[in-house]
Amino acid sequence: MKRSVLVRGSNRAYREMLLEKRAKVLSGLGIKFDTLARMGRVAEEDQAQFLSDESVSLHLNILDYEQLRLIEEALDRLASGDYGICLSCEEPIPPKRLHAVCWARYCVRCQEAGAERQWNEVRSRVPVGARQ
Ligand SMILES: [Zn+2]
Repeated sequence: MKRSVLVRGSNRAYREMLLEKRAKVLSGLGIKFDTLARMGRVAEEDQAQFLSDESVSLHLNILDYEQLRLIEEALDRLASGDYGICLSCEEPIPPKRLHAVCWARYCVRCQEAGAERQWNEVRSRVPVGARQ
């Protein structure tokens, strides 16, 4: 995918934004970096179970966890050269949006179209015991 060349010049700035945001979320959660590294290596189907176990000991907030995951994914896309491309329509995401939401996976149009579905997906990952 060569379209990413369009945003390559800004990649360092986006990477710094993502790392800064990740550090902020992490410090808020008090999670050790090795725990985060483990998350990145847990298979998708095992994440719900992993989250269920970890949330008991770490009091992990589901939305912060989701945010961390999005940030990690964005860093992966920066590394692979796919950053800044909408995962749905494959159009470049406007820099204005990336500056506001540097972990964005979708352009505004696709995000809004899928917002409800995504929220349901997030809620389905909340362990039963953590619902209040
Ligand atoms: Zn899109």
